[in-house]
Amino acid sequence: MRDDVHLSQLASVGQIAAGIAHEVKNPLTAVKGFLQLLKESHDEMYVEIAQAELQNALGTLENLLHVAKPDLENEPKQLISLSVELQSLIHLFQDQIYRVQIQKHLSDTEACVYGKKNQLKKALFNLLKNAFEAIPEKGTITIQHQVENEMVVVSIEDTGTGIPPEKISMLGTPFFTTKVEGTGMGLAQVFSVIYQHGGQIQVFSKEGEGTKFVLSIPLETTKLTHGVIRMDLQVREGE
Ligand code: ADP
Ligand code: MG
Repeated sequence: MRDDVHLSQLASVGQIAAGIAHEVKNPLTAVKGFLQLLKESHDEMYVEIAQAELQNALGTLENLLHVAKPDLENEPKQLISLSVELQSLIHLFQDQIYRVQIQKHLSDTEACVYGKKNQLKKALFNLLKNAFEAIPEKGTITIQHQVENEMVVVSIEDTGTGIPPEKISMLGTPFFTTKVEGTGMGLAQVFSVIYQHGGQIQVFSKEGEGTKFVLSIPLETTKLTHGVIRMDLQVREGE
């Protein structure tokens, strides 16, 4: 193993351990306190607050588990046009268009990937959300969808803050965040899902200029090859 790879893995392990410790310790400490209050006052209100805190801790662990073992989510695979999904996801950010201009180049709506629709939508949403959050005031987000070498390629580019080079290797590590209110789980979900679909992720970023995430996922079908794919799907359904 190369030293720099080893070091960045150690840094990631530390990041994850600190993240779990922080995210789980806080709610558990609160539960401990509320149980003490319950003992003293017998007020049932403290039971409800303690339950909510426990739910927070469980939520953190569940998120982490989904990233580590995405197969546990047994969502069936289906044909999905990422272009169509992007189109509808953009509407969720309507309240931002007064400050962020969106440029869309969404070609090949008939080009599909074969995968877990909710998971892929969540990944695209996480990337869009990060792009909006990276733009402090006004800026532009450029979204492209095209087919290249039998791959569906989606790129989401923002004119935001950019990412310092030393932080690039931390992207996708659970709990890595530079935001006050961040969870550091967004990119971990993106990386996990895209790799699970046999895809790749590239990141291009320059501080002060912006960031571009490029996803490539194997093309499953286009309108021209529907007949062939129907046969292919029958085989898969019997698996
Ligand atoms: P969160 O958004 O909760 O911080 P993410 O996993 O989505 O967690 O992102 C991790 C970190 O990666 C962010 O805190 C930010 O520092 C960096 N990052 C991700 N996307 C971008 C982007 N488009 N521009 C600048 N920084 C980004
Ligand atoms: Mg995020």
